Amino acid sequence: MATHRPLYVAIATMTLTMASAAMAADYPSRPITLVVPFAAGGPTDVVARSLGAELGKELKQPIVVENRTGAGGTVAAAHVANAQPDGYTYLIHHNGMATAPALYSSLKYDPLKSFEYVGEVVDVPMTLLARKDFPPNNMAEFIEYAKANADKINLANAGPGAVSQLCGSLLQQALGLKFTTIPYQGTGPAMTALLGSQVDVLCDQTTQTIPHIQAGNVKFYGVTTKDRISKLPDAPTLNEQGLKDFDVKVWHGIYAPKGTPAQDVAVFNNALKTALNSPAFKQKMADLGAEIVSEERQTPESLQNWVQSEINKWTPVLKAEGINVN
Ligand code: ASP
Repeated sequence: MATHRPLYVAIATMTLTMASAAMAADYPSRPITLVVPFAAGGPTDVVARSLGAELGKELKQPIVVENRTGAGGTVAAAHVANAQPDGYTYLIHHNGMATAPALYSSLKYDPLKSFEYVGEVVDVPMTLLARKDFPPNNMAEFIEYAKANADKINLANAGPGAVSQLCGSLLQQALGLKFTTIPYQGTGPAMTALLGSQVDVLCDQTTQTIPHIQAGNVKFYGVTTKDRISKLPDAPTLNEQGLKDFDVKVWHGIYAPKGTPAQDVAVFNNALKTALNSPAFKQKMADLGAEIVSEERQTPESLQNWVQSEINKWTPVLKAEGINVN
């Protein structure tokens, strides 16, 4: 009997290899859910839906975008971390993946242990906006006005862990002032509130703000990146308007629940690379001031390293600020 064992093992291994090859060839055989941590219509959602359309063409299955809002993106991340690792649930998230651990003491996932990484997607600058009827017309006037009226200023955001909150915190820190913050389920609804003059100020990604800036629906004080951006070349940065070293950029990555089969992640990653290269997605992102990441960054390893380095960067900054949600 014992002499036949290697043969059994060889046959069993071959059968398994053939079975997993067949499974990989079949994948995906039904629609895939892409979870977005913020409200529909907002800037992360815009990236997810534009990307989802291209991924769907590539994978030959619909990508169903599901908005799971709450707690600055942590509700969606926890949902995906605990979803079936069967290759049919993915998460698109931003900087919040790396800032949440410093803000929430009872996170139900670990950004470094609960996911399979798929790859990075786009980098998006942010912009500082105010309602159209807010008195200051530019950054210099805003700084002067804020110093005299800080207690009257309402700053909208998408909750602790959101980039709008990070940007708003850094703004208040740089000015040495405290505003009243009003959280929404995403900056889609926050923008609606700004357009309706229910809040005064919002810091948000260009993937939502550019059309409103171009249409003159809002007052626009500057971009949050260290350097000016090519889509809005005449717009000064906050850095060059006195907020020294102000530099906030939003990055997006795609994740799957830990344990998702490696071959499924590889199929999804290939589709991601093709989608990021598609003329329609490229054009849409260029129109909205977003920059598609380089090929080296479209990999699981790059996203994993990036999340780790962003956790290292932001944890001390956020801890020092003393914001702790629960
Ligand atoms: N801009 C968002 C944030 O502040 C979220 C969103 O895309 O709605 O994190």
